[in-house]
Formats: sequence, C-alpha cells, structure tokens
Amino acid sequence: MQHTDVLVIGAGIVGAACAHALTQAGLSVRVIDARLGGATAAGMGHLVVMDDNPAELALSQTSLDLWHAWAPHMDAGCAFTACGTLWLAANDAELQAAHNKRSTLQAHGIACEMLDATALARAEPALRPGLAGALKVQGDSVVYAPRAAQWLLDQAAAQGHLIFEQAEATHIDGHTVTLRDGSQRSAGAIVLASGIQAPQLCPGLPLRPKKGHLVITDRYPGTVRHQLVELGYITSAHHSDGTSVAFNVQPRPTGQLLIGSSREFDTTDPAVNNAVMARMLQRALDYLPGLADLNAIRTWTGFRAATPDSLPLIGAHPEHPHLWLAVGHEGLGATTAPATAQLLAAQITGGTPAIDPTPYAPARFAGLNTP
Ligand SMILES: Cc1cc2nc3c(=O)[nH]c(=O)nc-3n(C[C@H](O)[C@H](O)[C@H](O)COP(=O)(O)OP(=O)(O)OC[C@H]3O[C@@H](n4cnc5c(N)ncnc54)[C@H](O)[C@@H]3O)c2cc1C
Repeated sequence: MQHTDVLVIGAGIVGAACAHALTQAGLSVRVIDARLGGATAAGMGHLVVMDDNPAELALSQTSLDLWHAWAPHMDAGCAFTACGTLWLAANDAELQAAHNKRSTLQAHGIACEMLDATALARAEPALRPGLAGALKVQGDSVVYAPRAAQWLLDQAAAQGHLIFEQAEATHIDGHTVTLRDGSQRSAGAIVLASGIQAPQLCPGLPLRPKKGHLVITDRYPGTVRHQLVELGYITSAHHSDGTSVAFNVQPRPTGQLLIGSSREFDTTDPAVNNAVMARMLQRALDYLPGLADLNAIRTWTGFRAATPDSLPLIGAHPEHPHLWLAVGHEGLGATTAPATAQLLAAQITGGTPAIDPTPYAPARFAGLNTP
C-alpha cells in the first residue's frame, strides 16, 4: 500500500489549499479527486470579507491577507483582480447598515469608505439613479477559483511532496482509503475536502445543498468596475429555508459580467430553474437597467455545502483522530480556503493556529457518525 503523511480527498479550492499548506509544512501529501465537478467550478470567486459573526470575519480577513500575498505570484489564468466590493444601500435603513458594517470592518483594520449617492453614481454610472450610497471595501477581490486551485496544486508539486491521482474514494477506514478500483492508499492523516459529496464518505455530516444560479454575459468592458452587491444580500445569504435572490454582479477581467445570486434549499436538481433565474435577473435589472440590452451567453447552477450555523467544519472528526474535516464552506469557500488550510495544517502538525479554531471545530455538532 502506498503511504504518505497526509491524504487529501477532493481538489476543489479547499482541498487544493489544504494540500498546499500541508506540503509547505514539510509533509508528503497525496491528493485524490474524482473530477466530479464541484462548487469551485460553479462559483463566482468573489473574495470578500464577511462580518456576520466574529468567526466568519476572522476566517475571511485572514484569508484575504493570504490571497493578497499570493496574488503577485499567481498566473494570469487565475484572473486575480483587486476590484473591491461596493455594498449598495438602496435606502436610509440600508445606509445605516452600511455605516455599521464600516465601523465593524474599520475596527478590525480593514480599509473601507462610505460613498454618498453622488460618489456612487460617479463610481458606477450604470447603476440606477436614486441609490442612497455604498460602502466600498477596497481589498475585496475576485479570482477564477478552478485555476487558482490548480495553481495551488502546482505550487505544492513544485515543493516535491505532492502526488495527485484522479480517482474516486469509496471508503475511509482508519488510516486507509479505498478507491473505486478496489486499491487502497494509506496515510498518517486523512483530510476530507470533498465538498457537498462528503457525507457519502462520512455519513452524518451536517451538510445541506444550497443551490445557486449564475449567468455570464458577452464582453462589455468597463460597464461595471467593482463587485456590486446589494446590502440585502446578507439577509438572503443567511436564509435557512426557501428560495431567495439578491443583486450581485462581478466584472470579469474579460469584460464579461457575472450575474448572481440565488439560494435554494431542498433540491439537488442541477437544472436551471427558470422561475428562480427570472427572479434573479429581475433583481439585477432593478439595479443595473442597462443589463436588458446585453447578451447573456451561459447560465449554470452549483451547490453550496451549508452547515446549520453557516460556519465550515475545520478540524478533527470528533470520533476519528486520523480523519480531519475541511467541508461546509457554503457560499464563501473560495474566499476562506486559504485560512481554512492554514488552520487545518497547524492542527495536524501540532503548530499554533493563526486564529482560534474553536468556532469551526466539527465537535460543536453532536452526533457526527463514524465513517
Ligand atoms: C453559485 C455559487 C456561487 C458562489 N460564489 C462564491 C463567491 O463568490 N465567493 C466565495 O468565496 N465562494 C463562492 N461560492 C462557494 C464556493 O464556490 C465553495 O464554498 C467552494 O468552492 C467549496 O470548495 P470545496 O473544495 O470545499 O468543494 P468543491 O469545489 O465542491 O470540491 C470538491 C471536490 O471533491 C471531489 N470529490 C467529491 N467526492 C469525491 C470522492 N469520493 N473521491 C474523490 N474526489 C471526490 C470533487 O470531484 C470535487 O473536485 C459559490 C458557490 C456557488 C455554488
């Protein structure tokens, strides 16, 4: 049986970041991915500091710092762009929410500034007139996450400690992972980073699929300059039932516009839901009326892996010390993969984590079953 220090199941952005951090810590790592497609290929790649609770803020802020450190070394295919986010306030209540958000972010040393209605119209002339203002978060960025995942694996391989195999894991037993062809691989530690598929290998994980739709337009360079998100997105993102939509538009370096967002529970059907898509696009048109004249060239869906408290599971499986979890990143996994990986690598190697691991510890959920 072929043995490495660590075996990572899943090479989406989270598994790739874990492999990168573990090889940097000097460990030998095998990565297994079945190329089933996952959230990393389906997502938006908005790297955004979120502050709904201190744990989310710590994970996203630490991650943004790591993304910025990597950015100068990433290849052009990763399409890293420090475009910043404009959190749009449609009325006085949302403007107050923007002020509150600014206070929280600034208290943590995150650069941001309020734009009044005039400054907002100057910054983004395509937005509908009459918006109350916006909070601009300068350091937020965008990345093409599938390429960034590959870049992380390439960096890990360059260290000489990485083996990648395209294969499907079917069973985990202690130090051993069985593959679809019946062969086995062993490792001192196994990291489960297989996204929404993780419960198949580890039944009982508290993960629910949250479906999302995206639309991309043809190339219209300069239409939009920042990632534009309505402040109501925060409420939409945290619904734990039903279907919600929010305005969220990203300028791609190609000049294309990536349009989101929707959230839908209780479905695993990947087909585009025309009713949800229509609601999402109507919302987008409310903010950017000129979208009506642009060509959309592709629509698709993806599934976020949501936990009951919206925080990921990062750390040891409570019943299996060799099994480590890096799953449940919901709509923020492209952002939070770097700090997730750093946190997990510190725990596996007995190092000192950069942030308190407690809020993400899988043991916070009772009844995680044995794999
Ligand atoms: C519509 C949408 C928009 C999003 N927008 C953003 C955004 O703007 N910003 C942000 O930060 N996040 C966003 N996200 C969330 C983000 O994309 C995810 O949190 C992140 O990609 C999760 O990465 P992952 O590596 O955990 O999982 P995945 O990307 O799903 O990767 C899991 C991998 O595991 C492999 N795998 C599964 N089972 C097995 C097995 N048995 N054996 C071997 N391999 C296996 C799969 O092939 C896959 O490659 C969005 C998600 C969606 C759906």
